[in-house]
Amino acid sequence: DAVEISLKDIDQLAKTSFPLCMRHMLEKLRENHHLKHGGRMQFGLFLKGAGLKLEDALAFWRAEFSQKVGSERFDKEYAYSIRHNYGKEGKRTDYTPYSCQKIISATPGVGDHHGCPYRHFGEENLRAALNKMGISGHPLEDIMDKVKNRHYQLACTMTFEAAHGISCDTGINHPNQYFSESQKVLK
Ligand code: SF4
Repeated sequence: DAVEISLKDIDQLAKTSFPLCMRHMLEKLRENHHLKHGGRMQFGLFLKGAGLKLEDALAFWRAEFSQKVGSERFDKEYAYSIRHNYGKEGKRTDYTPYSCQKIISATPGVGDHHGCPYRHFGEENLRAALNKMGISGHPLEDIMDKVKNRHYQLACTMTFEAAHGISCDTGINHPNQYFSESQKVLK
């Protein structure tokens, strides 16, 4: 996989090509300069899967977390788990990004921002988030319909279609697949 994303492109790529779950976590990270463990895992592994190199990942998380906890505490308490996710610490397992199925079955608590917005947001928040992606009217109602029937991945697929103006026959089953399909369309 030759895809590589660089630090300075993350916000732009989030706007055009991240699925809603990852857009949401980036927004919260920028806002709070912090994400809890579940979010760091889900978002961190997604970024790794999207081609963010370890050095850039460390710089990315440090830039935010140091505003909240200071860079010393970041280096002491958080850098390890990022290197760990890249297989550079502990058992040196190369961790793979979470699938939609795994994300949908998560149980985010208060103050958590991981999980799948189609599954874990209330209706009002989900509508607002989709509006922010430029989705309204019939497409929005169709998506909300799928959500009501608990077809979360279908709702995400329809969001992809509405946002990109094409049909996605394979359906979305992985956030990194959403990202790479989007990049294919936009390139
Ligand atoms: Fe993310 Fe998958 Fe949910 Fe889409 S369906 S928001 S890619 S977890």
